[in-house]
Amino acid sequence: MAPVATRAVLLRGYDYGDSSRILRFYTRELGLLSVVAKGVRGRSGKGTTAMSNFATGDLTAYVKPQRDLHTMKDFACTRLREELGREVLRFAGASAAGELVLAHAEAERQPGVFEAVERALDGLAEAPTPRLPATVLSALWTITEAFGFAPQLAPCVRCHRPLGADEVGRFDFAAGGVRCAECGQDMAGPRVGPGARAQLADLLTGTLPDDFTHPRQHLALVSDFIAYHVASKPLKSLQFLGGLMPVESGVVDDG
Ligand SMILES: [Zn+2]
Repeated sequence: MAPVATRAVLLRGYDYGDSSRILRFYTRELGLLSVVAKGVRGRSGKGTTAMSNFATGDLTAYVKPQRDLHTMKDFACTRLREELGREVLRFAGASAAGELVLAHAEAERQPGVFEAVERALDGLAEAPTPRLPATVLSALWTITEAFGFAPQLAPCVRCHRPLGADEVGRFDFAAGGVRCAECGQDMAGPRVGPGARAQLADLLTGTLPDDFTHPRQHLALVSDFIAYHVASKPLKSLQFLGGLMPVESGVVDDG
């Protein structure tokens, strides 16, 4: 059987047996792919460092149809992303992105998702520390968007009226977007003013807003959106992230 070659990013690994590991990759050509890497534990040298989480490289594997677990032949790391280990928030953001992909992705080719994951991890590795909260949120939103679940920010998800420039709507998780002020009167969803909508629109396209505010509220919003539409349950790493996001004391402007 000829091995399959694909660019791949390692999302998680587990020990398996005495000397092997099970590695879960997201690949450009095959989507989510789990492989057994035989005899890699206890081996010193570059082979093992290169197999740390969030490394990207060229994976070759023997892939059998109708199987869930395949056999790795080789993984040649091209980008280790060691920078992710420099701060807890950086690494927690990458872990949340990885958990999101593992919760939703399937063994099917979705190059847009692969590119979104690569950009998200590169962004987290390279972001200056003050930009990390926005970078984490952008990573989560862009991957969610690549899966096909972008929230509707305008017009109103209920009456389809465009929201006014100053209008504060409410987020309706079931409908997957923002309600106008009138339709949002009797519901409990988080308030989203024009500032928050503009920041969300930026984060969804991978742009970091210049004056990013309310990181905890933004994290709660993306976490609930993912739990509702993408993962069907709250992700543990998102709960952990909540405690790492900076708390703002300043004025709350509903923005
Ligand atoms: Zn409405």
